[in-house]
Amino acid sequence: MPGDNGRGAEKDVVIIGAGAAGIAAARRLQAIRPDLSILLLEAGDRLGGRAWSVGLPEAGDIALDLGCGWLHGARTNAWTAIAGEVGLAVDHTPAPWNGGRRLQRDDAETHAARAAIGDYFERLESHEGDDTDLAEMLEPGNSWNGQIRAIGTYITGAELERSSVLDYNRYDPGPGPDWRVRQGYGTLICRYGRPVATRLGVEVTRVNHRHAGRIDIQTNQGGLSARAVLVTVSTNVLAAGKIVFDPPLPEKIEAAARLPLGLADKLFLRLANQQALPADTHMLGSISRGATGTYQLRPLGAAVVEAYFAGDLAHDLEREGKEAAFAFAGDELAAAFGADIRKELSVAAMSAWAAAPHIGGSYSYAEPGASDLRSRLAAPHDQRIFFAGEACSRSRYSTAHGAYETGVAAADLLDGSFSRKA
Ligand SMILES: Cc1cc2nc3c(=O)[nH]c(=O)nc-3n(C[C@H](O)[C@H](O)[C@H](O)COP(=O)(O)OP(=O)(O)OC[C@H]3O[C@@H](n4cnc5c(N)ncnc54)[C@H](O)[C@@H]3O)c2cc1C
Repeated sequence: MPGDNGRGAEKDVVIIGAGAAGIAAARRLQAIRPDLSILLLEAGDRLGGRAWSVGLPEAGDIALDLGCGWLHGARTNAWTAIAGEVGLAVDHTPAPWNGGRRLQRDDAETHAARAAIGDYFERLESHEGDDTDLAEMLEPGNSWNGQIRAIGTYITGAELERSSVLDYNRYDPGPGPDWRVRQGYGTLICRYGRPVATRLGVEVTRVNHRHAGRIDIQTNQGGLSARAVLVTVSTNVLAAGKIVFDPPLPEKIEAAARLPLGLADKLFLRLANQQALPADTHMLGSISRGATGTYQLRPLGAAVVEAYFAGDLAHDLEREGKEAAFAFAGDELAAAFGADIRKELSVAAMSAWAAAPHIGGSYSYAEPGASDLRSRLAAPHDQRIFFAGEACSRSRYSTAHGAYETGVAAADLLDGSFSRKA
């Protein structure tokens, strides 16, 4: 803001998007810069974005997370400490991939599958040289490739051909196990956002940064101005041009387009008779197919099944709707527990993240060669348009605590830029 410290603007900072990153940034700015006026604008009708918990009478105090559910790297995850501060309970039952209970046969086939998966990830993690896609690391003809493909989609939300080995190898959620919040990860993030001045149902459509000292923000509810803007919307929203930057910011849009959102959807099924399934046990739908669901039976003991679909399968089931997803899950559960299990189950809730108008998917992956674009996306423009969100994190992308960290980092940069201009 050369020659003008922005006194004509209505707000010091406008934050676009009230997901984990936007809320974290707002709370950080409130703490370090109580002198600044901050406004959070959210297009949807609730706080949280991809963090969204819903209640179910049968589930008691357990909430169902339609979006993020696991506090990855839980001991060092910022949200773990915040859960305590806002009065929520963190459950330490181990995750299925970390020693938790799993429904698995203990036969030669299962051992062979485990060995093949182990070999695949070893090849992946020791890959050197040019970046390539995750499918390149498959051993052609290996009979366990289907299962490896399924696991790949749960991790990135995309089929192996689409995502980068280098980006996968950079992923590091931080030390610590994976825990859950009994009342929901979504509840936690929303609660943390409560003290922030927020306007819901306000969709930003244009950010005009032609003038020194003032950024004009157009929304579906009228206009306002700010000295600085922090953009935290998903890469799919950015790449679709839903917010027009004037002048344009092609380097941001191009980066976002090559860091698209993969898709993972959850289907929650009510379980009429609790005794029909074991508590807090994990099951993979099929050990041979790539298009298969993964199931958390009675998470935290609740009378529900959480089915998780990812990649192309999730796109198909989301498009076809709840009943199709229920039929798919019913078949996979019936194969393990017998046909009568279907009678115990009914649909409680299902996410549809690809169709969510202000989000458009689940978590970002990098196309081969695009991992470095995460830092390009995160870099401020002109020291007054800042960016945050899970996709901006080099190693904790695709997580809610990664989103938190990018929000805090952007708030600190914003503070630095305001201090220099004061
Ligand atoms: C099914 C699923 C499972 C997941 N599991 C986990 C997990 O176990 N652990 C984990 O750590 N992470 C998990 N994640 C990922 C995690 O939820 C996300 O990484 C994180 O919540 C992203 O936060 P964000 O602030 O970057 O983006 P968002 O949550 O997308 O926030 C951006 C906000 O911007 C708003 N917005 C968009 N456009 C506009 C506009 N024009 N004007 C105003 N507002 C706008 C959106 O409505 C949204 O609220 C999961 C996600 C999904 C979908």
